[in-house]
Amino acid sequence: MKSMNHVVSNFKESIFSTMTKMAIENKAINLSQGFPDFDGPKWVINLAKEALDEGHLGKNQYAPSMGILSLREAISANYKKLYHLDYSASSEILVTNGATEAIFCACLALLNPGDEVIVLEPFYDSYLAAIELAGAKIVPVTLKAPNFTYDINEIKEALTDKTKMLIINNPHNPSGKVYDKSELSELCQFACENDLYVMSDEVYEFLTFEKAHIPTATLENMKERTITISSTGKTFGLTGWKIGWVCSSETIISAIHKVHQFNVFCVAHPLQVAMARALEKMDEYIIEFKSEYKRKRDLLVNGLKDAGLNVLNPAGTYFALVMLPEGENDVDYCKKLIVENKVAVIPTSAFYLKSDEGKRIVRFCFAKQDETLLNALKNLK
Ligand code: PMP
Ligand code: GLN
Repeated sequence: MKSMNHVVSNFKESIFSTMTKMAIENKAINLSQGFPDFDGPKWVINLAKEALDEGHLGKNQYAPSMGILSLREAISANYKKLYHLDYSASSEILVTNGATEAIFCACLALLNPGDEVIVLEPFYDSYLAAIELAGAKIVPVTLKAPNFTYDINEIKEALTDKTKMLIINNPHNPSGKVYDKSELSELCQFACENDLYVMSDEVYEFLTFEKAHIPTATLENMKERTITISSTGKTFGLTGWKIGWVCSSETIISAIHKVHQFNVFCVAHPLQVAMARALEKMDEYIIEFKSEYKRKRDLLVNGLKDAGLNVLNPAGTYFALVMLPEGENDVDYCKKLIVENKVAVIPTSAFYLKSDEGKRIVRFCFAKQDETLLNALKNLK
């Protein structure tokens, strides 16, 4: 047999699949993979049922490749209302199969073999795969625990004449960091001075507890060079629907769309119809959503503190990190926790390429029913 693609043959199983599988095998409480163990809002699910019943209007057939217009219009209206960002529904928004497909298509559309991408680690696993499949090279710069601050000099040192893109994930998985305006401004100034694309992964934009989320594209001179990515998976607790999007200039979106067109062509039509209708009611929904998650964060963080763990309080996302005592190793710690305490969490070394810091950190997900969180805490004590 001939060999496989050399990039693909180096890919490992995603840490999220591995840990969820281990949780099932060991009958452990799964606080590893980031998804809620409760259903999404009933009213949104009912909107999908209605859309499925509208098959006579073609809603069960292929959707337009860019996404249905009403969804693109709803996304555009929300960016305008929430952030004063102007994205044209007709040419500057593309609906994708979750943020993951947006990341993948953006990398394939914009990167050439040999290009370099600066990524702040720890980082979400699909960035590396997408960059490498485009033939480009990832250049990691470490956000330093426990505050996950970057050193601008390290970012400047990572720059070469091949650097084409910077990836920012804000709010940040796994740390829960929400970037300050001053940090974003500094990163954006760096991107502008060096004519870089900025891929801004903002899937947790509505999961901020103390600080407001600032979309990268709202910063001065940034809209044209920013590829803004988001997803309804987290916002509506419907990760299985895989409705995401990417917004940028018409030229960039047109390129990304070319990849999307030959990758999947389009996204599940009835779910787009439901999301378009749901996004119109975002204002009312989001208040309750945020306060529920803030409550869950406090429940987990206080419980972990009471259990004697060194937990960091996240400003955003639905993850909390625990710093392990000196001498512990994240992978061994996670194995022990699953087998002995019946709780599954993520070893964060999977999010690092350069630094060893991840070996001393594990990630807990609090997008879980109170009962699940309380049972996990009981097991940990
Ligand atoms: N980016 C980040 C930072 C994530 O944590 C995730 C995980 N859900 C994604 C992208 C992927 O989002 P989606 O499920 O919409 O593909
Ligand atoms: N983003 C989710 C997490 O960080 C997982 C997504 C996935 O399983 N691919 O846990």
